[in-house]
Amino acid sequence: MREQPYRIGVIPGDGIGPDVTSEALKVLAAAAPVAGMRYELIEYPWSSALYLDDGVLMPETALEEYRTLDALFLGALGDPRVERGVIERAVLMTIRLGLDLYINLRPVQLYSATLTPLKNVEPSDVDMVVVRENTEDVYVGLGGTMRRGTPDEIAVAEMVFTRRGVERTLRYAFELAASRRRHLTLVDKANAIRAQEIWRRTLEEIAPEYPGVETDAMYVDAAAMFMVTDPSRFDVIVTTNLFGDILTDLGAAIQGGLGGAASGNLHPGQVSLFEPIHGSAPDIAGKGVASPVGAVSAMSMLLDYIGEREAADMIGIAVKELLSSGRVPSADARSGLTTEQVGTMIADEVRQMAASPD
Ligand code: NAD
Ligand code: MN
Repeated sequence: MREQPYRIGVIPGDGIGPDVTSEALKVLAAAAPVAGMRYELIEYPWSSALYLDDGVLMPETALEEYRTLDALFLGALGDPRVERGVIERAVLMTIRLGLDLYINLRPVQLYSATLTPLKNVEPSDVDMVVVRENTEDVYVGLGGTMRRGTPDEIAVAEMVFTRRGVERTLRYAFELAASRRRHLTLVDKANAIRAQEIWRRTLEEIAPEYPGVETDAMYVDAAAMFMVTDPSRFDVIVTTNLFGDILTDLGAAIQGGLGGAASGNLHPGQVSLFEPIHGSAPDIAGKGVASPVGAVSAMSMLLDYIGEREAADMIGIAVKELLSSGRVPSADARSGLTTEQVGTMIADEVRQMAASPD
């Protein structure tokens, strides 16, 4: 066992964020003693409510403190009462860029054929990971508007790709593919967006260093179609920040809904941030019906990342068991179970696994 307890920073956030975070922490509390790991939680209050009440946004100095943690966990951010994107940029984008979390890792895995809206698809057909570049593209905020509000208004947003940013993302994806089914698909729009050709060139250049990995490349429109018509063709997808954002909501949909999908914002070897991929879901906030599956799965990814493989696997197996057996019928707001009930079921499953090791 590690001498020092892990220090995990937690940002519950807005809307359903705090609800799903509680359940993820409940499951962590069940798994940790079994795996013999100790941890300490450091909670941060950054949220739209705090901003509305006190005008406080996350200060950039918080980044210094985060660098001393083992990992960060985020529920969700965003509130319709706050100007669009203000809180998401102040917290999430500041952390992603400030800690240089250049990989956004998003597994897409189907646990039961009953969960997917696709016809004639088995769980074995949907098992891919999307590696989304996480610090560049249109999200860098380069651009603006001119002659705002006039008929001659011009709005510009630049897509930025650097050789360094592209190459480190591709290398991460190659290594991931080498540890899986050894197939890497680059998704871009290099035909229409000439700048994205940098992805193709860099891929071709470094591919010989990964001789075990087969590669192909696809335009994003075709990739969207194939994710629906033939998901089994994908193992690891590597793509730009914007396309990864969009394709992973589609990925979440084919695995049974946004409520079940998890992600890691990584800088391999450094403190990284884990979160469900959904937002604060204002339409169901406060109703107690949000699925905590995505948040719990994000906690499993966090544990795996910090090296607590046993705890991570127990949680992953518990989630899979509950969804594939139908005891948790779905990872959306229509499971008939409350957020708390699902969290408790996963925690109980983890404890039971520990009681009867096979
Ligand atoms: P959303 O993900 O919050 O919700 C989209 C739909 O999915 C809604 O119908 C919602 O009810 C449903 N849903 C989401 N999570 C669910 C869960 N766990 N269980 C059951 N159903 C769930 O996306 P949105 O509506 O586009 O955005 C709402 C707010 O969240 C906005 O302010 C947006 O900027 C923010 N947002 C934040 C993050 C983040 O914190 N990382 C990500 C996406 C969106
Ligand atoms: Mn998104």
